[in-house]
Amino acid sequence: MVDVKHSKMQAEVVWTRCLGFIKENVSEKNYETWFTAIKPMELNDSKLLIQVPSMFFYEYIEEHYIDLIKKAMELIIGKNAVLNYLIEVENSSKENNKIKLPNISVNTKNPAVNVTSNTHHSKSINPFVIPGIKKIQIDSHLNPNYSFDNFAEGECNRLARNAAYAIAERLGQTAFNPLFTYGGVGLGKTHLAQAIGIEVKKRYPDKIVLYVQADRFISQYTEAVRENRQNDFVHFYQVVDVLIIDDIQFLSGKEKTQETFFHIFNHLHQLQKQLVITSDRAPVDLPDMMERLISRFKWGLQADITPPDYETRKKILQKKIEIEGIAIPDEVVSYIAQSITTSVRELEGALISIMAQSSINKKEITVELAKQIVDKFARNINREITIDMIQKIVCEYFNLKPEELKAKTRRREIVQPRQIIMYFAKKYTKSSLQAIGAMCGGKDHSTVLHACRNVEDLKQTDKRFRIY
Ligand code: ADP
Ligand code: MG
Repeated sequence: MVDVKHSKMQAEVVWTRCLGFIKENVSEKNYETWFTAIKPMELNDSKLLIQVPSMFFYEYIEEHYIDLIKKAMELIIGKNAVLNYLIEVENSSKENNKIKLPNISVNTKNPAVNVTSNTHHSKSINPFVIPGIKKIQIDSHLNPNYSFDNFAEGECNRLARNAAYAIAERLGQTAFNPLFTYGGVGLGKTHLAQAIGIEVKKRYPDKIVLYVQADRFISQYTEAVRENRQNDFVHFYQVVDVLIIDDIQFLSGKEKTQETFFHIFNHLHQLQKQLVITSDRAPVDLPDMMERLISRFKWGLQADITPPDYETRKKILQKKIEIEGIAIPDEVVSYIAQSITTSVRELEGALISIMAQSSINKKEITVELAKQIVDKFARNINREITIDMIQKIVCEYFNLKPEELKAKTRRREIVQPRQIIMYFAKKYTKSSLQAIGAMCGGKDHSTVLHACRNVEDLKQTDKRFRIY
């Protein structure tokens, strides 16, 4: 029988000496982050068992520090040293917070690495295929095309663009934390947010940058909850240096995810890590979002991006043309810039169609060709839904005149259509709650929110409302 106490003490002694060596070979910050949380548990012969806080932690160490640890162990314990891991997971029941992971054992090329959990009776279901250093890299999810170089600056995006650049240039030293950029579809929010990540990686290759779409964040979280891995999830996000969350509006109404994001946000912000958030609307206009979170969003800089003016549209097109390396006459560029005004994405789409047509049919790119394609293109662009359109349709349905809607009355025949208009306007337009209220008889934003909730409730209880 092994003397448990004794082996624990020995483990501590040996590990402390290993740490001495490790400390000399990593930065102070990395040492703090990755090594102070490791607990030596047992030393049996040359086998050292250490406990790490999470699966992610284990993978990160394997990826980045295994050689160093191996060297330290060889030095202190000897050539035949073996490292075992115990991975701690926090369970909802407090007494049982040690790992319930399957027994993972690895036959490795690297004799100093061996992974086991402390549940010896559980079955081994997942021996890693790639032995030893398991290559998990934090994939930043950055698209190299979305760089600052490829981003055209104009009046419409100047504040956002310059703040974004400053963040990447002087990481951790600007007041723009979080940077919250917002604006309509296809105006360059994702591009700009990614540009920050790309530039940070270029200037500070060691920084961990993570770009994530909010809906992906939500599904990751849901999955983590299902598998009782919330802790790993939170840990994972808490180690990044630059966290970019795209389209935060998807968190609306997702209370639990908001709560979790709130914790991650606070943790990162406290450590002066950079947060970059994009949204289709301003923080105040985000419906069903925790007040605490909205107030955090306002801490740094809010910068809106508006549709580009003619000059910027031309600049954007010229950039794309330069990237594609194709010669396009100036008058064609001007023609496209004049005809497509809605969003950069459509501008790009038109340009690509023209280039494709010209190359497929071996036609020269002329204004004539551009006209044919742009006309077709413009017809296919979905018309944006406006509050006016919604009002018209709802009034027709309920046989009301638009003026009647504005009457100061609590009559159900008026109140209900009005609420339905507000609901649709919130759902299908990018108007702010204030703007919707103003269009519906001078109501304030809380009335609009109340209306939306009412209609949501009716959808649950009244089957005539389900179809919406
Ligand atoms: P959003 O996230 O706001 O919906 P995106 O960032 O996805 O918009 O932009 C849509 C497309 O337009 C992308 O291909 C992007 O590269 C391009 N784009 C947007 N703004 C600019 C800009 N200022 N300069 C160059 N390209 C741009
Ligand atoms: Mg986007």
